[in-house]
Amino acid sequence: MNYHIMTLFPEMMDACFNESIIGRARSAGLININLVNIRDFAAPERKRRVDDYPFGGGAGMVMQAEPIDRAYAHIKESIPGSHRVIYVTPSGRVFDQKLARELASEDDIVFLCGHYEGVDERILQKIVTDNVSIGDYVLTGGELPVMVMVDAISRNFPGVLSNDESGVEESFSEDAEYPGGLLEYPQYTRPAVYEGMPVPEVLLSGNHALIAKWRREKSIERTRERRPDLLYKE
Ligand code: SAM
Repeated sequence: MNYHIMTLFPEMMDACFNESIIGRARSAGLININLVNIRDFAAPERKRRVDDYPFGGGAGMVMQAEPIDRAYAHIKESIPGSHRVIYVTPSGRVFDQKLARELASEDDIVFLCGHYEGVDERILQKIVTDNVSIGDYVLTGGELPVMVMVDAISRNFPGVLSNDESGVEESFSEDAEYPGGLLEYPQYTRPAVYEGMPVPEVLLSGNHALIAKWRREKSIERTRERRPDLLYKE
């Protein structure tokens, strides 16, 4: 998978992508992250400015079309076939595990991180295939949403998670009975008693069938309590 990310803050993203599981996947060549600084494609005679005042007035600045258009043209030179271009925006479809799994089958994904009040609509119409939000709140920029998405998508590639970190039985995993997925059951580790609170006895029984049954019941119970909407999701 090649991620191509158009951003005004490549250093911030690089620092995050060099750490932990994503950093390891990057070093192992399982994923490739191409950070493209939009400012490099802005006109030097305008002191590499990438924003301007909004037509019609109002607060804040808007990212201009041209530097993004040029940055994307540069990225496209290295992508052989068709690909999705995702603009992260509060006005998009809300990102979830299903979309993370779907995007994991792509070879190349291009992301556009907005800033200020957003991006000139004309460049969005020209290049964007998907508008995606990470939730119903407004962040200062698109870098965090893209980092969230790259992390969630990459966990689905074989080899990115080690056996110890396996994602098979996690919250939102595919489930034949509940298409929306279930939340994960409670987890425990040593000691067996912590401040007078014992681990549920079944987990110490060594009976795998009973443990699996207990875990499933707890998953359903927890989903019903915390996220009943998932139980009715198609
Ligand atoms: N004026 C915009 C609006 O009301 O929808 C918000 C702009 S926001 C301050 C700047 C940038 O942050 C956006 O262009 C987008 O790329 C990113 N962003 C902010 N919140 C986001 C969210 N919940 N999901 C995805 N991207 C977000």
